[in-house]
Amino acid sequence: MVDLKGQYEKIKEQVDQSVLEVIESTAYINGPEVHQFQKELEDYLNVKHVIPCANGTDALQVAMMGLGLKPGDEVITADFTFAATVEVIALLGLTPVLVDVDPINFNIDVEAVKKAITPKTKAIVPVHLFGLAAPMDEIMELAKAHNLYVIEDNAQGIGANYTSKDGTKIKTGAIGHVASTSFFPSKNLGCYGDGGAIFTNDDDLAHTIRGIVNHGMYERYHHDVVGVNSRLDAIQATILRAKLPQLDQYNAARRNAARKYSKAFEGIENIITPTGYCKAGNSICDTCDCHVFHQYTLRILNGTRDALVKHLNDNGIPCGVYYPIPLHAQKAYKDPRYNEADFTVTNQLVKEVISLPMHTELDEEQIDFITKTVIDFVTD
Ligand SMILES: *Cc1c(COP(=O)(O)O)cnc(C)c1O
Repeated sequence: MVDLKGQYEKIKEQVDQSVLEVIESTAYINGPEVHQFQKELEDYLNVKHVIPCANGTDALQVAMMGLGLKPGDEVITADFTFAATVEVIALLGLTPVLVDVDPINFNIDVEAVKKAITPKTKAIVPVHLFGLAAPMDEIMELAKAHNLYVIEDNAQGIGANYTSKDGTKIKTGAIGHVASTSFFPSKNLGCYGDGGAIFTNDDDLAHTIRGIVNHGMYERYHHDVVGVNSRLDAIQATILRAKLPQLDQYNAARRNAARKYSKAFEGIENIITPTGYCKAGNSICDTCDCHVFHQYTLRILNGTRDALVKHLNDNGIPCGVYYPIPLHAQKAYKDPRYNEADFTVTNQLVKEVISLPMHTELDEEQIDFITKTVIDFVTD
């Protein structure tokens, strides 16, 4: 699915040397490398504050703690996403409210969010799923009208540009009140272990969050709030510093591979290729950078998705089903308030989606082999 080795070979010299330097420096936790990375990421995203932490799940949790969300508060998020989002909502004693997604772009359905808002609703968590920016104009408007926080889960979307209705481009993660990301190795900006970060343009919130990730300390050994221990270590930061300048190129390589996939699948019955809602309509336009293709995900319409998975595996092609079970149907998150009729899109997508290999090192030959194998099977 991903070729981390091939990507590493190209930056090996720099990574190896800077990792050795960190080891020599003995500044393993926080320290200058983490600080530099924070600054460089702030510049890249054009966001005022980046607060590095231990992983993307912590980043979400800490963001919610920082906003002062309290047990009983309702937080709306997508039914079709990785469990981390709903997990932290539940862990904090908040009430998760899962809503359906859009069948075209797989992101949270704004109409469904609208319907789910109650007087207890405090926040919306859009996920830039598979690397495509969620419809942030509509979400921010809705949040403003109902006085809600917006927490962007940017774990899959780092580097994507969201183009607002007025034409301005903003990086995902710099739009909501606060955002989280993950540097898990297979993410678009991945380190060689666990890592994550929180972003915000709000000075007070940034200050609060910096304390929370460090045991609630704002002054050494004065614990003003209940915090956590969530830090990015310097070895991961130095690896991320080597990769950040490549991120736009990495994302361009992913988009390029996605275009080649989609071109090959053009006109093939029973396959729906992924798309943004960029001005080009139902395709990936040449100039659009709203999608960074964390995953390249097809819908297989004729009920043969599972057979296709097996066929690809038999032919030595890795693939994945993200995600096979809607969150509202997961044992841990079942809730009698949920009504199956409200999740028709997610219930359908979990049966149809398949993600093909997607990374920065895909070459023409691999894409040809993968697309031919898929098409042979689907048109058989
Ligand atoms: C990967 C991911 C996370 C969690 O990140 P970790 O660093 O693995 O904790 C959260 N949300 C989404 C959408 C993700 O894809």
